[in-house]
Amino acid sequence: MEIIIQKFGGTSVADAEKIRQAAKRVIKTAEKGFGVVVVASARGKQTDQLVADALELNPNPPKREMDQLLSTGEQQSVSLFAMALDAMGCDAISFTGSQIRMMTDSVHTKARIVSIDGKRIRRQLELGKIVIVAGFQGIDEHENITTLGRGGSDTTGVALAAILGAKLCEIYTDVDGIYTADPRIYKDAVKMKQISYDEMLEMASLGAGVMHPRAIEFGKKYDVTIHVRSSSEDIEGTIITHEVPQMEGVVVSGATIQRDMAKISLVGVDNVPGNAARVFAHLAKAKVVVHDIVQTEVSSDKANLSFMISISDLVAAKEAVEQIKGDINCRSVFVRKDIAEVSVVGVGMRSHYGVAEKMFEALAEAKVNIDSITTSEIRISCSVDEDQAEKALKAICGAFELHKPAETRNA
Ligand code: ADP
Ligand code: ASP
Ligand code: MG
Repeated sequence: MEIIIQKFGGTSVADAEKIRQAAKRVIKTAEKGFGVVVVASARGKQTDQLVADALELNPNPPKREMDQLLSTGEQQSVSLFAMALDAMGCDAISFTGSQIRMMTDSVHTKARIVSIDGKRIRRQLELGKIVIVAGFQGIDEHENITTLGRGGSDTTGVALAAILGAKLCEIYTDVDGIYTADPRIYKDAVKMKQISYDEMLEMASLGAGVMHPRAIEFGKKYDVTIHVRSSSEDIEGTIITHEVPQMEGVVVSGATIQRDMAKISLVGVDNVPGNAARVFAHLAKAKVVVHDIVQTEVSSDKANLSFMISISDLVAAKEAVEQIKGDINCRSVFVRKDIAEVSVVGVGMRSHYGVAEKMFEALAEAKVNIDSITTSEIRISCSVDEDQAEKALKAICGAFELHKPAETRNA
């Protein structure tokens, strides 16, 4: 039996009517002969509400307890989904992450999947049931509940596709596909028919919250096609897949904005072998996820080392830096909050020049000051003041004509 994974995000299961609508779509797919595994997120803004509940009682809640709490949102949706299917005369069974042995590491609130036991799901599919799995959650080797990071239900969906041998994972959400930029911020953004895993991974990692980055990594590694589409309209969305030659013709595919960032600069660090390794080993031990790193030699014996992190990791990162400061003979530590990163992404950048120049010109014209610049083969990112970030994104989108379909752009 061919298996399809259908993942429904928070807004797509927000109330009884939405769950019924999603359930009808699932039944339609099952009637075509597919084995359907549904992955559901917590309803509406429930995860946000649970976070707020926790913070009301404790400004720094233990991460293990946070996971214990946040996982309850998905547990509710899956059982409600199964009940809706049952009411429509369809045999269904729901599972939590622990019930399908969704094993993760022990990094609470941003755990990574280690293995999944597909046997229980397969058995139920063979019995003709629709299986509904709680997204976003797993358990570690000590049976503690873990969560995969905000937006992590996408990763549950694609990881299940990988282990069950499903070729397709459909992501049903509140937009009808991947746009050249977040359509909530840049109203003129256009929908893409397809995007490569590499571009989508960059976009997702740089703030395009429509997909969880780990989901794209699983998709690429295990050859799962991901179809991001609307849960309210039955139209084609965007296919995330391997790169095809014509994708290179498009220089810039999309632009992103990443908010809630902070930058830590270690000024005047001894310029000797091993110091960068010491700093980042310390940060890794503190479980801080480091984004862009810039190191520059400022004299024969001193260097400046800066790195970007999300604001949620700032306390842990500052602590780690304080501990290591003396060992690396750092003159001073400079922390900048209220910073955001705007980026352009496109595999075509590999073979085109002038992209950086055009981006910087657009920012200059919009009178946006650039704090720091980082690049990879397929992206350019500039960090800017957070309150200028939207203006910066719109200026970049205009410069690269991201309001036009790819084939009609001059930029
Ligand atoms: P779900 O709850 O279904 O997982 P999310 O809120 O996580 O939905 O993701 C959908 C949202 O992602 C959209 O409402 C949109 O505002 C945002 N988004 C950010 N960047 C993009 C983009 N490039 N294309 C489409 N949507 C985007
Ligand atoms: N419910 C979780 C969140 O809001 C996971 C998800 O929706 O993907 O982040
Ligand atoms: Mg999401």
